[in-house]
Amino acid sequence: MATTTSSFMFLKLSTSFPCHTRTGSLRSSKLIKAQSSDVQKEHVVIVGGGIAGLATALSLHRLGVRSLVLEQSDSLRTGGTSLTLFKNGWSVLDSIGVANHLRTQYLEIQGQEVRAVERRVLLETLAAQLPPDTIQYSSRLVKIEPSSNGDTLLEFTNGSKLLAQIVIGCDGIRSPIAKWMGFSEPKFVGHCAFRGLASYSDGQPFQPRVNYIYGKGLRAGYVPVSPTKVYWFICFNSSSPGPYL
Ligand SMILES: Cc1cc2nc3c(=O)[nH]c(=O)nc-3n(C[C@H](O)[C@H](O)[C@H](O)COP(=O)(O)OP(=O)(O)OC[C@H]3O[C@@H](n4cnc5c(N)ncnc54)[C@H](O)[C@@H]3O)c2cc1C
Repeated sequence: MATTTSSFMFLKLSTSFPCHTRTGSLRSSKLIKAQSSDVQKEHVVIVGGGIAGLATALSLHRLGVRSLVLEQSDSLRTGGTSLTLFKNGWSVLDSIGVANHLRTQYLEIQGQEVRAVERRVLLETLAAQLPPDTIQYSSRLVKIEPSSNGDTLLEFTNGSKLLAQIVIGCDGIRSPIAKWMGFSEPKFVGHCAFRGLASYSDGQPFQPRVNYIYGKGLRAGYVPVSPTKVYWFICFNSSSPGPYL
């Protein structure tokens, strides 16, 4: 018997690297004065606790650099299904010391190192390797401004403020940091997708390979993830991105 969970999401065409960094001189002409002692001060701040934010924090931690990750939600956003990672992804996970923990849980497909991993497990694995208090939840960035001493002042929905020497934007598709840095808005390119993760309590029956099905304006497929789970997806052309989730 197979059970399934699914998610609906937009496919984006991004022209920029997922992390946006800003140090030192700033584009905005309006410099605010660095304020008094009630403002928290940090050296490296990462905005966004998704895969990019946690992987960046862990990379810095491995290099001995402390960072603070600010995430808008009140816990890790572990929703979603799976991501298929190829050889380059695995070499990154190797270099930050989490690949072997994940390899043992997921099937190798197609000879080369290609494995689909559950997004939740990837996020939780990265978070578990970070020092306590690295991630500060319920911290939604609403304002970012340069200060007169070259630091950057960040302001959050709850009114708190933080002064950072280095800010790394890992805040996803509608990144306020990217917008502030002058990157263009993401463009909807006319593709939508449904994704799901099917669970087979008695073991899944498929060969370890990616299986594609093509139709007019449609591409679907399924990938065995583990001995009991199969990731499936349906990508289709659509004139509208659908609801914002
Ligand atoms: C809930 C969810 C489910 C997903 N499911 C899948 C999936 O099943 N398969 C797949 O291939 N891809 C999925 N993705 C997309 C995939 O995770 C990303 O495209 C990819 O990993 C890049 O990660 P990212 O860290 O750059 O962005 P994201 O994973 O989008 O993470 C960005 C983070 O920044 C936080 N953030 C945004 N704005 C602010 C702000 N103003 N202040 C503070 N924090 C902020 C967000 O809450 C989020 O946690 C999902 C993304 C999300 C958020």
